Amino acid sequence: MLWSREPWSDVDPVGSLDLPSGRFVIGCTSTSIGPIRVVGVCIPWRDAHVRTGRCDRKPWQDHSDFIFHLGKLLSQLDDSTPIIVVGDFNQRIPRIAQPMQVFDQLQNALADRFQVVTAGVLSDVNEQSIDHAALSRYLTASELQTFNGTSEDSQHLSDHFGLSLQIRLAKLIDSTRQHASKNRSKVTPQTIGESLHWSYANLAMAHAAVTQNADRYSKTHFMIRARMYAGLNGGTMSTASLIEDERLKLILPQACCYCGARKELSLDHLFATKRGGSDSGDNIVWACRSCNSSKGARDVLLWMNARGDFPPLLLLRRYLKLAIEHCRGNGQLQIPLGDVIKLPFALEAIPHAFPPLSTLRLWQPVSCD
Ligand SMILES: [Zn+2]
Repeated sequence: MLWSREPWSDVDPVGSLDLPSGRFVIGCTSTSIGPIRVVGVCIPWRDAHVRTGRCDRKPWQDHSDFIFHLGKLLSQLDDSTPIIVVGDFNQRIPRIAQPMQVFDQLQNALADRFQVVTAGVLSDVNEQSIDHAALSRYLTASELQTFNGTSEDSQHLSDHFGLSLQIRLAKLIDSTRQHASKNRSKVTPQTIGESLHWSYANLAMAHAAVTQNADRYSKTHFMIRARMYAGLNGGTMSTASLIEDERLKLILPQACCYCGARKELSLDHLFATKRGGSDSGDNIVWACRSCNSSKGARDVLLWMNARGDFPPLLLLRRYLKLAIEHCRGNGQLQIPLGDVIKLPFALEAIPHAFPPLSTLRLWQPVSCD
């Protein structure tokens, strides 16, 4: 169900005859930031019609069919009017247990046009959601909050927890910056520096938890993140030098930093030279022939993203340190995120949402053969 304070227009509860009924609705509503097109979806879960109902489907089949037709519909929408795709996606993002194939399919359906703003572990519930909101360009989200699936008088409302978020026009970010910085716990980076620092702060939190073998983030871990972010932004803290990373490169066994293979190794530039990456040792890692050719000239984060992989923490640390160093050296930390500038790394792929703690690793395990 879609609800708006303002009237709806162009409402279509069918979308495509290829979609099952009752799982799709699209409409346009006027808001204080202009008209917005909202696509409501309920993507069938893994076992839809597998052991219940028609019992004629394989696991993920209904899910996959739905995404295929949804992708076609989305690709036909003109995004000069901002679009929000919202509802039950029945997938955790980043991927946890779902097959790579259906995860890839969902990423392809959303393409580069939509950003999922509900990805990653949500700090107040310490888990990932399967309900999501994906926003087209010009839109940005903040103040993501969850609420319980049980009402105050203990009535069971839903198997899912609820989500709420504030959506703004990305162009209006500057006028809302003051408001955002007052509210420290809800972080929406506005500049290149803030984006890199927020990622590095999340990395510091994850690194602390992983090295302590923690099974969940504690208050202390969240405090490490908050302090690091404030310290980096305020200039009272800096990222540790790359010397520690270089030391590790010397003492760890020589292996592909992407897959752990020990054969057919060559040197790989973490920031591709084509994008302006340097030839210095800091920017060079070991990679096997297979990873090297699969990655090609693509940025490493974009390449791993496309495979549904999250980089090992120490690889990400090197990447973020290089990125921060580059931007500091070139006076680019204060540049607003919306501005287009040439960078040797993929700013759009800098992770703000990390996958669950249990899936994070410091380094790719070295293979035995
Ligand atoms: Zn490899």
